[in-house]
Amino acid sequence: MKKKIMIIAGPCAVESREQIIRIAKKLKELGVDVLRGGVFKPRTNPNSFQGLGDEGIKYLIEAKEITGLPIITELMSIEQVRMYADKIDIIQIGARNMYNYELLKELSIYNKPVLLKRGISATYDEWINASKYITNGINRRVILCERGIRGFDTNTRNVLDIQAVPYIKKNTNLPIFVDPSHAAGNNYMIHDMALAAVAAGCDGLMIEVHDRPDEALSDKEQAITPSELSKIIDDIKKISEVIGE
Ligand code: PEP
Ligand code: MN
Repeated sequence: MKKKIMIIAGPCAVESREQIIRIAKKLKELGVDVLRGGVFKPRTNPNSFQGLGDEGIKYLIEAKEITGLPIITELMSIEQVRMYADKIDIIQIGARNMYNYELLKELSIYNKPVLLKRGISATYDEWINASKYITNGINRRVILCERGIRGFDTNTRNVLDIQAVPYIKKNTNLPIFVDPSHAAGNNYMIHDMALAAVAAGCDGLMIEVHDRPDEALSDKEQAITPSELSKIIDDIKKISEVIGE
């Protein structure tokens, strides 16, 4: 039996109404499962594009209405969770907020899937413990997402810790997703890292896709095009036939 790999794809950031709807339609055609698009962006540099905020959520919801694709976006504060938990399908908690225990506790009172990214240099135990802040309440719907950890080589953005996949599978009952985009930081690596993650047994992938990568307002170096994603999806099917359930 072929294993189903859930594909979450979309731009790093929602940049305009037109941009997210245009990309969402292309991703729908490729059979993507969930549309991503950041609207509250935790940028390392405060002078970089910070996302469209509340306006961006409206565009993301419109893209969902047009395509039927469920949506995921990162929320960064308790206030944002209270405002938007009911309006989005999966709440993303970013690497920078994995240690924000008050935010995690707030998520424990919702029956809403949360994709919890691994902190930039978090150990497995710290990451798993962070997930327990959410599952200690009524919320059982946590997905863990490996997104690369900080290494010492500056040629790539982070180091994709593929070992996280078998470790999380052995030591938790939670699904494990992999985000090769923020790990590699370079678009030419995404195909190979995505396939490696699937071969290692991940349950899903989160990949940044932009139809005009050169124009992307954030993370343009790691954005792949819809046609590059299409090739990844085809190749994943071949691997998932080999690895089975
Ligand atoms: C993102 O997915 O856009 C993002 C900011 O990811 P991370 O929290 O892994 O850096
Ligand atoms: Mn990004």
